[in-house]
Amino acid sequence: MAYIGTWLPRDFAAASPVRDARSQFIAMARTNDAARTWDTCVQEDVELPDEWVICYYAFRCLHCNTLAGNWDFG
Ligand SMILES: [Zn+2]
Repeated sequence: MAYIGTWLPRDFAAASPVRDARSQFIAMARTNDAARTWDTCVQEDVELPDEWVICYYAFRCLHCNTLAGNWDFG
């Protein structure tokens, strides 16, 4: 996995084939608290926020392009 940067909510929408940021966030998570984390940190606004309390580290597999990530609340 190669580190590809810190992501904001809009980056998940951009990475999602159906522009669904929440589903993309959950799909990339390796823990099962992702849905709860997203729902706690992202308000259900029409537009995704430009900042959030999460420090999200995104990674991409250099072999199959699979996206993954993890986060902390730094
Ligand atoms: Zn891979």
